[in-house]
Amino acid sequence: MPRPHPGSTHVYSRPAWRCRTCGAPWPCQPAKLRLLGEYKKDRLALSMYLGTLLDVAVSEVPADSGENLLERFVSWARPPRRPRY
Ligand SMILES: [Zn+2]
Repeated sequence: MPRPHPGSTHVYSRPAWRCRTCGAPWPCQPAKLRLLGEYKKDRLALSMYLGTLLDVAVSEVPADSGENLLERFVSWARPPRRPRY
């Protein structure tokens, strides 16, 4: 289970998966920007990291929340020119 970088802001809190800084559903916009910066040379690694978090979140976010967790956690990080399926 990957851990948020120590000292970084806009990290998730479990099991609610909300941002510790702004309270928005994680990843919030500042978290996305930070992650895109950290992983700009390795988007595959970013997708793998987010997929690992998604795997945990699926078991912790209530199924009746109606949220598309795949969209929330992983889909936004796809490279921009890739077709969506
Ligand atoms: Zn935040």
